[in-house]
Amino acid sequence: MTPLLPMLGAPPRASSAGNATAGNATELPADRFGRRLHDLRVSVTDRCNFRCVYCMPREVFGAQHAFLPSADLLTFDEIVRLVERFVGLGVQKVRLTGGEPLVRRGLEDLVRRLTAIDGIRDLTLTTNGALLSARADALAAAGLQRVTVSLDALDDPTFKRMNDARFPVARVLDAMGAAETAGLGPIKVNTVVRRGVNEHAVLDLARHFRGSGRIVRFIEYMDVGHTNGWRLAEVVPADEILTRIDSIFPLEPISPTYRGEVARRYRYRDGAGEIGVVASVTQPFCGDCNRARLSADGKVYTCLFATAGHDLRALLRGGVADATLDSAIRTLWGSREDRYSELRTAGTADLARVEMSYIGG
Ligand code: SAM
Ligand code: SF4
Ligand code: SF4
Repeated sequence: MTPLLPMLGAPPRASSAGNATAGNATELPADRFGRRLHDLRVSVTDRCNFRCVYCMPREVFGAQHAFLPSADLLTFDEIVRLVERFVGLGVQKVRLTGGEPLVRRGLEDLVRRLTAIDGIRDLTLTTNGALLSARADALAAAGLQRVTVSLDALDDPTFKRMNDARFPVARVLDAMGAAETAGLGPIKVNTVVRRGVNEHAVLDLARHFRGSGRIVRFIEYMDVGHTNGWRLAEVVPADEILTRIDSIFPLEPISPTYRGEVARRYRYRDGAGEIGVVASVTQPFCGDCNRARLSADGKVYTCLFATAGHDLRALLRGGVADATLDSAIRTLWGSREDRYSELRTAGTADLARVEMSYIGG
């Protein structure tokens, strides 16, 4: 990790793409590989009402687990202030996540305040859907634009094997409907695929959501954190997922909508809509990775697999000026060299990575 304060104001080294930023506070920072900051994921809590086995296994995140005390969480004032700084430096997309973002009380107020920030083009939320039906109208009224809802299977037994919570699939589907009615569509559906657990759900979900306007994104099971016991053998490669779907419902690729889009997009040749695959393990996309993550306690992580974050909360609570915050963000992004997925080897497995429920998925 780069220490923030000693480096404040130091210009970043020239990037490989030759477009590093210099002194102008309004210019976008580029990192050492020329990647420009575009997306910010804001984790509003490290808590969750599910215990997905690939994210927060119950044996680790049980009754004794020490979640962040509420005094450590960024307040809404602090989140808004940081998001304003990031947007001023070029962030255009903000996604609220967690943990489960809807367990954070009053999230609609945060959404309303973020909506008012000039320069955010896209304000979205990723949720497991459990609390969404009751909140969709209020979230839409507050200005939320879209939601992504995670769903790993269409049958209850498999869904339970993935999320380790007794929550019926039907209620997640109802939540998607409520979100669409509230104007939060088109819905994206995130599905983590794990070998031997929910492989059969790939075709179930493709069949179910074809023609619905909902876009399923099949995600390769990733080695985030240390608690999920990840093994490469449990990853179902995106190409295999595509082959399975294409053999029943023929597909063709679609161009990305913007540089750095994580999901590779495909449409059904018969016009029944589209799907995406996120091949973070088998076809890493670090070269275009333009996102930063803000943890619930105010640390910025420039990679999902980072071993340490940059503590902006300490600066905020120390009474820092906006210009100093901007310099800190420019410095940390300008010195960024992350490309974990491209470098993934047996040797990287032991790095002290943070958990996804903390850093924000
Ligand atoms: N709780 C919300 C939810 O589940 O949608 C938001 C946070 S969750 C960490 C964000 C996304 O990360 C979810 O779609 C989840 O499936 C995905 N995810 C969590 N652990 C993962 C892993 N080990 N590999 C791939 N995706 C993962
Ligand atoms: Fe909770 Fe989302 Fe992690 Fe599942 S993936 S445990 S719903 S934070
Ligand atoms: Fe971005 Fe890190 Fe993932 Fe590479 S491994 S795509 S740098 S978050």
